[in-house]
Formats: sequence, structure tokens, C-alpha cells
Amino acid sequence: MKQLTVIKVGGAVVEDEAQLSQLLKDFSSIAGPKVLVHGGGRSATKVAAQLGIETKMVNGRRVTDAEMLDVVTMVYGGLVNKRVVARLQAHGVNAIGLTGADVDVIRSHKRPPKDGIDYGFVGDVDRADGKMLSTLVEAGIVPVMAPLTHDGAGHILNTNADTIAGETAKALAQYYDVTLVYCFEKKGVLSNPDDDDSVIPVITRNDFRHYVEDGTVSGGMIPKIENAFQAIDAGVKKVVITCASAIDGNNGTVINNL
Ligand code: ADP
Repeated sequence: MKQLTVIKVGGAVVEDEAQLSQLLKDFSSIAGPKVLVHGGGRSATKVAAQLGIETKMVNGRRVTDAEMLDVVTMVYGGLVNKRVVARLQAHGVNAIGLTGADVDVIRSHKRPPKDGIDYGFVGDVDRADGKMLSTLVEAGIVPVMAPLTHDGAGHILNTNADTIAGETAKALAQYYDVTLVYCFEKKGVLSNPDDDDSVIPVITRNDFRHYVEDGTVSGGMIPKIENAFQAIDAGVKKVVITCASAIDGNNGTVINNL
């Protein structure tokens, strides 16, 4: 099978001009079919504040009420997505910006309130259309995916960008040997959060369980690694967690399906 690379770029990287610029340059030079998935939480928080809308978080996750849904739709689907697309075009990459609603590429349903927590207009993914994505990719088009999905009944839903990346990689794994790279502001999963060079080279399921138990891995890193294991289980060939300047996948933390 042909190789395909899915790169997920985290919020902090999208908002740091030097890191973003390097990442887009490196992304442009990846040979063969590729897909970029971006976040943008920090930009959404900033624009919301400028509009006088307060950002509410529960357990480190955004609560998406109706006003915040408008903000994330504008910021993720508009500002961040279209800026990235324009910049990729400047690198000669024929990018197309997509939310899940565009060409019906990712459907989801609104997450029901659970344990007294209502995250609002947040979508849990039902399916990503690998056939449509592969059709675009085979036409030489590079999808740039915003973290928004739709429910098929006319509603946009906010969806975690790591999940979008995982679901996209899984859907494409039917057609390609997929490498999924989660890039963020650190060099990989660290054994010591205060030491940027303490990258753990490989994480197995067992390691992961221990790291969560002893607190080595916490916060946003937990769902990121959970998404990574799901992707591997669903046939994605390789998942790497690394920094924006190492998207060739030869550094950082490899997720191992043991
Ligand atoms: P993204 O930048 O891709 O949106 P998140 O903010 O969701 O990613 O998750 C990455 C965050 O996870 C890091 O910024 C860091 O604060 C946190 N984290 C927790 N444990 C670790 C760890 N062991 N190594 C690296 N980062 C960790």
C-alpha cells in the first residue's frame, strides 16, 4: 500500500509564528499524500475574550455553549484554517480547508451530558469518510482539517482536534499505510515535565497505564495517547508524538501496540 502522512498540529504551535512557519515548511516537503489537522483553542479563547465572551472549562476541556460555538466555528473553520491553507498554497501545496461538514467528511453526534457535566455543542465522531479523503488526496489535493464536525441535521459541533486526527488516520488506513504524527510544543512525551530532553522513546499500553497512575502523563496528554492507541488498533501503521520541528517522525515518542 502507498504511504500517507497525517500531521496534527497543536494549539500552541498554531499560535507561535516561528514554530508554525517551520512546521508548514516541513509539511510542504513531505513526499506523497498527506493531510494536516489543526487545533486552535488558544486563538478561540483570545477572540472570545475580545468579543466579551467568557471561556468556561471543565476538567481542562472547553464548554461549548451557543455563543462559544459561533466563536469556534469562526476561528477554527475561518481564521486558523484559511490562514494555514493560504500559507500552504504559498509553499506550492494545493490545500483545501475542510470542516467535517464539507463534503460530509466527518459526522458526529452531540455528546450527551454525563456525570452532571454538559460540554454543550461538542461532537463525538461517528464516522470519517476515508473514501472521500482518498479521492481528494489522489487528485493531488491536501486536506487541511479544522476541529469541527456536523451531525447531518444541520448542526456544527466542536470536536477535539486529536480525535479528528485519529479518526482521519483510521479512515485512511483502509487505503494507505498511514503514519500519524501528533506534534506539539514539546519534543515528545516527557518522563520529567521540567526536563524538555527527557523524551520517552516508546510507550506501550502497560507503560501508559503506569505513567497515568504515577502522574507522569496528565492533562491533554492522556486523551492524546488514548487516541493514538485507538488509531494503532484500527490499522494505522505508526503513531508518533513529537515537536513541530521533527515531523519526519524519526524523533519523539512512538506509540507501540503492546
Ligand atoms: P495540543 O497542544 O496538541 O493541543 P494538549 O495541550 O491537549 O495538546 O496536550 C499537550 C499537553 O500535555 C502539554 O502541553 C503538557 O502540558 C501536557 N502533558 C502532560 N503530561 C505530559 C508529559 N508527560 N509529557 C509532555 N506533555 C505532557
